[in-house]
Amino acid sequence: MNIFDYLKHWMIGITNAVIRFPIFIWSWLTAKPVPLETAQKRLLTCYDCDEFDLLLGQCQKCWCFMRRKVQWHNSKCPLDKWLD
Ligand code: SF4
Repeated sequence: MNIFDYLKHWMIGITNAVIRFPIFIWSWLTAKPVPLETAQKRLLTCYDCDEFDLLLGQCQKCWCFMRRKVQWHNSKCPLDKWLD
């Protein structure tokens, strides 16, 4: 992957994050949290996933920031990899 691929990848990720920001805020305000163990299991699954961007902490399938998303009760993995 060259520097232009990295820049393109980051621009897509950041653009999607900006577009999804209102949804993120709404979820933050309204969603119920899951138990800490559940959030940790989800995040470990993401760390092992090929779609996870470790640098941004972002899923490349749904473009969500997973360190937050795993904490919400109504969150879903787009590839259905979470076991809860
Ligand atoms: S949400 Fe699912 S697809 Fe996305 S990084 Fe996590 S395990 Fe992978």
